Amino acid sequence: MLSKKMEQALNNQINAELWSAYLYLSMSADFAHKGYSGFAHWFDIQYREEQAHADLYIKYILSRGGKVTLQPIREVKTEWTDLLNAFEDTLQHEQAVTKMINELYDLAVKEKDYATVSFLKFFVDEQVEEEETAKQFIDNLRMIGDSGIGIYMFDKEVKGRVFNAPKNA
Ligand code: MG
Repeated sequence: MLSKKMEQALNNQINAELWSAYLYLSMSADFAHKGYSGFAHWFDIQYREEQAHADLYIKYILSRGGKVTLQPIREVKTEWTDLLNAFEDTLQHEQAVTKMINELYDLAVKEKDYATVSFLKFFVDEQVEEEETAKQFIDNLRMIGDSGIGIYMFDKEVKGRVFNAPKNA
C-alpha cells in the first residue's frame, strides 16, 4: 500500500505531467499557426509523450491500491516569439519537472517504499534525456540564427519524429 503522503505526491506528479502536456500542446498549436509544420508535429509528439507519462502514474497508483485524484491544470503560455524562445522555455520547464521527480524519489527513499523507487527510475532517466534534447535544440537554433533556409531545413528534419509510447503506457 502507498502511504497517504506518497499517494498525494504521486497525484501531484500526474498533474505536473498533464501540465507539461498542456504546455507542449500550446507550443504545437502556436507553431502550426505560424506555419512551422515540422515543429508543430514535434511538439505534438512531446504532448502525447507527456500524456503517456501521466498514464503511467495513474496505472501505478491504482496498482498499489491508491486513489487517483485529478486536479486543475495550471495555465500555460499561448505564444512564443520564436523557436529559440520555445526551447528555452522547454528547458526551464523540464528542469522544474526534474526537481519535482527528484523530490518524489527522495520521499520514496525516506519512506523505504522501494517499489516506488523502482517505478521512478524510468522518470529519472527520462528527465536526463528531456533536458539534453532541449539543450541540443537551443544549440542548433543558435547556430542557425536568422537563416531562413536553415530554419526551413530544420523544420523538415523534425517532421520525421515518430511517437514511441513509453513502456506499459
Ligand atoms: Mg514527462
